[in-house]
Amino acid sequence: MSGVVVIRGGRLIDPANGVDASGDLLVADGVIRALGRVDIPAGATILHADGLVVAPGLVDMHVHLREPGFEYKETIAGGTLAAAAGGVTTVACMPNTRPVNDDPSITAFIRQKAASEGTVNVFPIGAVTKGLEGRELTEMGLMLKAGCVAFSDDGRPVADAGLMRRALDYSRAFGALIIQHAEDPSLSAGGCMHEGVISSRLGLPGLPAAAESVMVDRDVRLVELTGGRYHVAHISVAGAVEAVARARSRGLPVSCEVAPHHFALTDEAVLGYDTDAKMSPPLRSTEDRNAVLEGLARGIITVIATDHAPHDQDSKRVEFCHASNGVVGLETMLPVSLELVRDGVMTLVDCLRAMTVTPARLLGLDRGTLSIGAPADVVLFDPDESWVVDAARLHGTSRNTCFHGRRVRGRVKWTMVSGKVVHDDRLRA
Ligand SMILES: [Zn+2]
Repeated sequence: MSGVVVIRGGRLIDPANGVDASGDLLVADGVIRALGRVDIPAGATILHADGLVVAPGLVDMHVHLREPGFEYKETIAGGTLAAAAGGVTTVACMPNTRPVNDDPSITAFIRQKAASEGTVNVFPIGAVTKGLEGRELTEMGLMLKAGCVAFSDDGRPVADAGLMRRALDYSRAFGALIIQHAEDPSLSAGGCMHEGVISSRLGLPGLPAAAESVMVDRDVRLVELTGGRYHVAHISVAGAVEAVARARSRGLPVSCEVAPHHFALTDEAVLGYDTDAKMSPPLRSTEDRNAVLEGLARGIITVIATDHAPHDQDSKRVEFCHASNGVVGLETMLPVSLELVRDGVMTLVDCLRAMTVTPARLLGLDRGTLSIGAPADVVLFDPDESWVVDAARLHGTSRNTCFHGRRVRGRVKWTMVSGKVVHDDRLRA
């Protein structure tokens, strides 16, 4: 393919610039050069986009790539291939690797590996505390210089209030974002699914919704105290959505994301003890799901992120309570999110905004837009094509999806990173 590509006759949607119009997109030397009516330069490669949406490549700010240390679950190479197949051109990867990304040398390793073996853009998230042990803060300034774009102890909460206060204070000096896995361990300990009617029926120990909302309530107080930028990972309960709504209405620098499984499913998916319906936070009640949907509709929840968490079969083919937490999500993010549009929860433009420019700006990235001069990270998808999710056909190393067998609509046709096609649906096996 030449350095010049014209994407012809698609529906161009760029939430960052309020664009929703049919037209062409001109890409040269990896950069977006023009939108609208484009004269085709001699020698240009043409991608026909009739009937397709042409949008910025998705930005997923919550991904576990598992490398270094857990390459039997996933690698940077495999995880970024799955991203490309899902139309995701930028991922931010969580630091709970082995060793933990709590040091500039680990950050540098991840970036080098991503540059040499990755298919999409990879931006590391550094740990808030050394070894994720919740005791000593990491050197955030040095880690930002090494390429970290935010900080989180994800997988675990920053449980100690005094430590969270210091983390928010310290990060404020750099304008860095702190991402909290909001869970009070004294309330969640021992639980392996949402505490409610279903957990009672199944006889499984539950963890209450309050484990999450108590922590978000507390953290909002600490944001008030410090002015630090705070983001709730994978929000899942009504009380936490309310806390974020209150904080935002008072102008505090608080944001949150939701994972597709939390707005598409409830704890009923655990009936049958399917360990691919086990994650942290767990699938919640219908009331919580409705609160999350309302949070999306009202613009309280502004980001959709997958919490893509690959696990090998040995970690999942065990008794429910002993199974590892987490599901893969990169390849189902777009079609499952498009259900929000068909169900009237949000417009297509707002839905794409939550997966492009909003997470990019939270992380300080110049991505997630079709602006002239921006890197040509683009996804072309058919919004109507119907298909059935088949775990066996996913691209990553692990196949632990909670959407196996679900009929979805919306299929990625091409994914482009810096002008290069990294996924072509016609080549699928
Ligand atoms: Zn988490």
